[in-house]
Amino acid sequence: MNERAAVTAYIGLGANLGDRLEALQRALQALGTMPGCRDVRGSRLYRSAPVDAGGPEYLNAVAQLTTTLTAPDLLRALQALENAAGRQRPYRNAPRTLDLDLLLYGDARIDSPRLSVPHPRMWERAFVLVPLAELAPQRVPASALAAVAGQAIALGP
Ligand code: ADP
Ligand code: MG
Repeated sequence: MNERAAVTAYIGLGANLGDRLEALQRALQALGTMPGCRDVRGSRLYRSAPVDAGGPEYLNAVAQLTTTLTAPDLLRALQALENAAGRQRPYRNAPRTLDLDLLLYGDARIDSPRLSVPHPRMWERAFVLVPLAELAPQRVPASALAAVAGQAIALGP
């Protein structure tokens, strides 16, 4: 017996290059086919302006899943999906075909050079907190939502 306990994790999805809707739909599907991952639920889709960058509007969503992967293994699996979607990193905050950020991994707090959980910038971003609150209202305090209420995001692709 070497079964790891299953953990509920939340993933932030974003795309602002290429066919953004297809990228997010494919990513949501692909999350459920990753080894050790099941029960994927997606939020509704939102549109948002790029933060600290120019370029096209983003399409964003949040996904919930149950996983027996460790957090670093889950991040690696997410990065493999980004790469398969043609993700390039020419400079910081560059437009991207697919961005998959690990927002929450159960109640874990992780602070390593490659992985910080909860995601350090999630509390500043309406396009993360609003869809996250749809799936897991208990994980998003009303005060956190109020703090980003001034940010314009719109429902739908
Ligand atoms: P962005 O911060 O704009 O999403 P990237 O997707 O290129 O940029 O990620 C940059 C680095 O952030 C990755 O190489 C990864 O190691 C690191 N990182 C740290 N914490 C996280 C997290 N919670 N989710 C995703 N990436 C993370
Ligand atoms: Mg990222």
